[in-house]
This record gives sequence, structure tokens and C-alpha cells, in this order.
Amino acid sequence: MRISRLLRRLRNNFQLSIITLMGLFGVIGITPYAVYRLTTGNYLVGTADTIIVVSTVLAILYAWRTGDTVKPGIYLAIIFSVGSTLIAINLGVNGLFWIYPLILFNFFMVSPGKALVATILVLLSLVGYAQVVPGSVFESDYQMISFLVTSMMASILSFVFAYRTHSQRDQLQQLAIHDPLTGARNRRAMNEELKIAASLQRRHGNSYGVLVMDLDHFKRINDSFGHQAGDQVLVDFVELIKNSSRKEDRLFRFGGEEFLLLLPNTEKTGLLAAAQHLQAQIAQHLQSPGGAVTMSIGGAILRRGEHWDEMLQRADKRLYRAKSAGRNCIIIDESSTAPLSCP
Ligand code: GH3
Ligand code: MG
Ligand code: MG
Repeated sequence: MRISRLLRRLRNNFQLSIITLMGLFGVIGITPYAVYRLTTGNYLVGTADTIIVVSTVLAILYAWRTGDTVKPGIYLAIIFSVGSTLIAINLGVNGLFWIYPLILFNFFMVSPGKALVATILVLLSLVGYAQVVPGSVFESDYQMISFLVTSMMASILSFVFAYRTHSQRDQLQQLAIHDPLTGARNRRAMNEELKIAASLQRRHGNSYGVLVMDLDHFKRINDSFGHQAGDQVLVDFVELIKNSSRKEDRLFRFGGEEFLLLLPNTEKTGLLAAAQHLQAQIAQHLQSPGGAVTMSIGGAILRRGEHWDEMLQRADKRLYRAKSAGRNCIIIDESSTAPLSCP
């Protein structure tokens, strides 16, 4: 049971699995060297090896405990870069072999730009040290040039590959959570963010409100002017709502012409004010070929400790009542039977 949970986390979190894999490689690969160096009296390299092994274990534990993979990644990249540089300075050519896996390691641990900077700093340190203490690190200038050319080639190829992977991953993420027509976040993103909101409320007491918005008589627009005219209204709607809400508010399209706005740090009065502002903006500015388009709104505040789905159902019921009240209405409060706001 526990093992299967661990495996699921590894499968679902690429960065965590890479930190774990690279970390274990590091520990398994370097521990024998650390023991060997310490027992044969090379204390400087032995200590560097030991520090690398211990900090790797600590970074993996931190990543697993907190779920934060960025800080341990940066930490490991720094420790491995400094450690490998010291080892290469101390051992010369025998240590230089380690710079190649180090380059790959850095590109797996941190962003491509940071990894490139780290690699360049390592190479500069090695060449700089070799200039200050001639005969150390490299056996000849020819060897130094060969090393620089091959390691720079490895870095640039790694950079190109990592950069491409990063931008493709960003694009995929973008596609996975956005609705292609309007650019609003989709239902999958909505479920995720509501889950996060509910857990933030439980842990830190953050307050959240939601507005469920549904365009009035939208089907008529499609029926009278065609699907494309309907699509354009949806696109304009999203644009208007985005421009009329706060930066921290999140808009999701979770049905055909049904949208949800998640408002952090919002209590009931704020939620009503926001709903009225949005309602007015839409009524004034949203146009179909047949004239002005309005919307109905049901709102709810996330109650302490409740599941986000309950809040959604409450908001949905109120939307239904707002529709029954004649449309272009807002209902946020359960206690009032009359619609709170119908212009
Ligand atoms: P009400 O005031 O009760 O909300 O009436 P309505 O016509 O807006 O509601 P209804 O649920 O009957 O119709 C929603 C329509 O939205 C039906 C569907 O064809 C249309 N629709 C859903 N998704 C899209 C879309 O992506 N583009 C277009 N153009 N129409 C869509
Ligand atoms: Mg509708
Ligand atoms: Mg609808």
C-alpha cells in the first residue's frame, strides 16, 4: 500500500523522480570513492565525496517531504558542481571524466539557463586554476583545448535538448488546462484549483468565493445567427470577464456557455459587488448580431471544512433560481428567497 503510493508519486512527478534517480546514482556511484579516498589518506577528495553523498540524501528527503523540487535541484546542482570542480582540480585528468556526467546532471536538475551558467562557471574555474598553477588539472594545453571543446559541445547539445523539452512541456501544459476556443482554463484545471483552494482554506483559513455564470438564451444566438456567431460571443465574453475581474481571480469554462470565476480573499459582500460589476459589464458590452447578451449568476462562499463540490452545488442551485427569476439576475445568499440583484 505504502510502496504503491510512493511509486505513484514517482510516476506522476517527473522532477521528483529525476532528483531521486540522479541522487541515488550519485550516492551509489560516489560512496565507494569516498570510502576509498578516506581509507587511502586523500582527505580533501574524500571529504568532498562525503559531503556530496550526505547532501544528496538530505536533498532527496527534503524533496519527498515538502514536494518542492526546485530548491533541492538548485542545491544539488551547486554541490555537485563545486564538488566535481574540487575533485578535478585535485585529481587532474582522472577527475575530469566526471565533468561530463556533471553537465548532464545539471541540465536534469535545474532550468536550461541556470545549467548552462553552472557549466560555464565550472569550466572557467578549471581553466583558471590551470593557469594559476601550471601543470595542474591538465597535462598539456592540447589536452585542455580538447577538454574545453568536447565539454562545451556536450553543454550546448544538452542546452538545446533541455530547452526544447522545457518549451514543449510548457506548451503541453498550456494545452492541457485551457479551452482552445476562448483561452479560459478548462474543467480539469477548475477541479485542480478548487481542490487547492479548499485545502488552503482548511490549512490557512484563506477565504474563497465562486461565481457560476451562464449566458442567457444562448441557444437562440446559435439558432438565429449560426454556431460561429455563438462562438464569437463566447470569446468576447471571456475577454470582457478577464478585463473586468481582478488579476488573482481565475476564470474557467466548465460547460458549453457556463463559466466559473474563482475569487480568492473574498467574502459575501465582495462577492456580490464583483457579481454586480461583471453583470453590468456584460449587459453593457456583450453583443451578439441580435443585440445585447446578458448572463445569470449563482454565487457561493467556500464554507470552513466543506468539500469544494458542495460549494459548487450551492452556487449551481442559485444560478438555477436566478434563471427562474427571469434571467440577468444574481443570487448569492441562500437566506433570501428573493433574487438579490435583478436590474
Ligand atoms: P438559458 O438562458 O436557460 O441558459 O438558455 P440557453 O439557451 O443559454 O441554455 P441551453 O443550455 O438551452 O443552451 C446552451 C447552448 O449552448 C446549447 C449549445 O448548443 C450551445 N453551446 C454549447 N457550447 C457551445 C460552443 O462552444 N459554441 C457555440 N456556438 N454554442 C455552444
Ligand atoms: Mg445559458
Ligand atoms: Mg447552460
